[in-house]
Amino acid sequence: MAPDAAGPLVVQKYGGSSVADAGRITHVASRIAERAAGGERIVAVVSAMGDTTDRLIGLAHEITSAPRPREMDMLFSTGEAVSSTLLSMALHELGRDAISLSGMQAGIRTDAVFGRARIADIETARIERELAAGRIVIVAGFQGASDDFDITTLGRGGSDTTAVALAAALRADRCEIYTDVAGIYTADPRICPEARPLRDIGYEEMLELAATGARVMHARAVEVGALYGVRILVASSFESDAPGTLIHEESTMEQADKVRGIAHEQAIAKITVRGVPDRPGIAAQLFTPLAEAGVSVDTIVQNASIENLTDMTFTVERGDADEALRVTEALLPQIEASEVVADADLGSVSIVGTGMSTSPGFAARMFRTLFEHGINIELISTSEIRITCIVREAQVGDAVRALHDAFDLDRE
Ligand code: ASP
Ligand code: MG
Repeated sequence: MAPDAAGPLVVQKYGGSSVADAGRITHVASRIAERAAGGERIVAVVSAMGDTTDRLIGLAHEITSAPRPREMDMLFSTGEAVSSTLLSMALHELGRDAISLSGMQAGIRTDAVFGRARIADIETARIERELAAGRIVIVAGFQGASDDFDITTLGRGGSDTTAVALAAALRADRCEIYTDVAGIYTADPRICPEARPLRDIGYEEMLELAATGARVMHARAVEVGALYGVRILVASSFESDAPGTLIHEESTMEQADKVRGIAHEQAIAKITVRGVPDRPGIAAQLFTPLAEAGVSVDTIVQNASIENLTDMTFTVERGDADEALRVTEALLPQIEASEVVADADLGSVSIVGTGMSTSPGFAARMFRTLFEHGINIELISTSEIRITCIVREAQVGDAVRALHDAFDLDRE
């Protein structure tokens, strides 16, 4: 039976663990077949099977320490080619008409920035034709093609972005991201057993959670969702009765005044430049070369100056610490600073929620909670909907659990 040509259009995405082996692929096929039988038109985006992408990186590095990004993208695209074709075959086996499409065949046009391409536009004619012919369309995630028909990829985890962008371009009725967890949690359940899945969350809050460690979804996918107003359901493909988390427009009144989640990060390094003369242009002199060296700097704090000398502190990922030190040390004579020191055993913990900026007291409660648990705060940074404290890495777990408790996140 062909699906009703006017039935609701649903874009689904299945992550690597959801299609990790032939059995899982068949399971996903039966879920899709069931929905199609109910009259929905389905476009399913898939990731590569299991840890395929990591294995491809490993293989490339057995050959060369510096694979060219263009070749890496060609190589990566094979992972999603395998999972998408197998899923299509599994649907045939269930008696459904399905077709797999590469990113290029699906009309996904990107810029030519290999390894982290951005979608420029999506030519949806082919997908629409296949849907009109009653087919289930399976799209290889995370890939597109440049104007020169070179294959590009969207950055690790990019299949989420493929799905949300397709949902926007096709004006789909629903966008569903299926993964191996029950949705977006109030904290990482691996370190906080009390964490529970949220029923819904705003785009902005989700972006803060994603950027600060809750890596359930590709941040770019959330940005695209916010831009085009695509409501995104994140749910488990393993537990079919869990409702999942809906990412959508700003949260309701009831949520507006609450901490929604605790995010954390490990492996942060802090670099401090001491005795910096307090004169205009110093920050530019320091951070321009860092940016040019590809070091992405996170929190930056400039202390109040004493006798025209100040300390400038910033954080980077631990993996970038050596490069940051090298670049900064080379600049010392030029900026006339006295020394640079690094501390590489740090992590961060953040409370996230809209409405924090309008209700005072969140910061105070956070700092008091950390103090009561003997956790020293090394640095503080804030955005409108987030407060982040840099702490010793060994205390990150304690900090997350203490804050989860202090802000009553174990209760709905
Ligand atoms: N397979 C790619 C990765 O592992 C893309 C994705 O899973 O979304 O990063
Ligand atoms: Mg993956």
